[in-house]
Amino acid sequence: EPFTNSRSLTVEALCAKAHFRCGHASGGCQVRMPVVLLPWHEQQCMYKPMKCFMGRVWSDCRWQGREVQWKEHLEEQHDDRLFRSSSADLEWNLGTRRKPLTGYYVFQAHDEMFNFYEIHDRQRVLFTMTCTSNRRDSKYNFAYEVTVLLPDNEALSMTQKFPVHSEYDKDILMEGTCVSIPLTELNRFLDQDKVLHYRVSVLAVKSPRRAKPPRQNLPQPADLEQAPNGGVNVKSVPTNMII
Ligand SMILES: [Zn+2]
Ligand SMILES: [Zn+2]
Repeated sequence: EPFTNSRSLTVEALCAKAHFRCGHASGGCQVRMPVVLLPWHEQQCMYKPMKCFMGRVWSDCRWQGREVQWKEHLEEQHDDRLFRSSSADLEWNLGTRRKPLTGYYVFQAHDEMFNFYEIHDRQRVLFTMTCTSNRRDSKYNFAYEVTVLLPDNEALSMTQKFPVHSEYDKDILMEGTCVSIPLTELNRFLDQDKVLHYRVSVLAVKSPRRAKPPRQNLPQPADLEQAPNGGVNVKSVPTNMII
């Protein structure tokens, strides 16, 4: 059926050229794009509806809004878990473990924002950090360090250091790419109340690695990214860890 084929090709060609409004336009998004790229954009659109991620992790906030408004909400309501410095001393009560993702904090440092996650399973605890920059190679400029403190004797603390992940990374918990401590090893660091005391630091790395050159013949979503706006994205945490 040559007629039908050429007809549908024409429609496809037209759709590829026409620009459509983002599905979150009612929320304020001005983006228009070829229809094939819209799903990609809408998935990371700053105007998509969201629930407060602090509330989802800590179960103490019911805020709902647009991703673009969340940073302001974070600054107003979650000051206790938003650090405007590159280092913080934290406590984790392992006596009251509930779900795999038990803790979530945000660091504002080095002119970037970083998500820090505290996770456990039956064998170990994991700590991982992502850079929220829209430029996916920004992560190469940073490392994070977790020091597990021994109560009353900091000299016997234990430190692990890893490169910061990007929110675009597929697996931010991959073995060997984040801080991982077996529970058996962790026990001696817990105080009488089963509380773990630890220190987190975000470090600027002096010799950043070069990002790979872009592939030649594929459209590069990176070229179409919106300007960085300092938003905090939470795309890379598997949702089954939060619920
Ligand atoms: Zn949009
Ligand atoms: Zn909140």
